Amino acid sequence: MKKQSCIICGKPLTDGIIVNGKGICKSCEERLINLEPGNDFYEYYKESIRKNMIQTRGAEYNCQNYHL
Ligand SMILES: [Zn+2]
Repeated sequence: MKKQSCIICGKPLTDGIIVNGKGICKSCEERLINLEPGNDFYEYYKESIRKNMIQTRGAEYNCQNYHL
């Protein structure tokens, strides 16, 4: 299995979730879950994820079903 790192904090991924092949560590995942839309951190995380998604767009992914 390929070594993943968290797309938000950049730490090596030892736990957490994989979204579209991108890892989010447990602590970032929990922070995301607990955030309200409109919160600065929420926007930051959303943006971090979106940027990572864009980098992998094209051949591999179709993002039309991506909602966050
Ligand atoms: Zn993280």
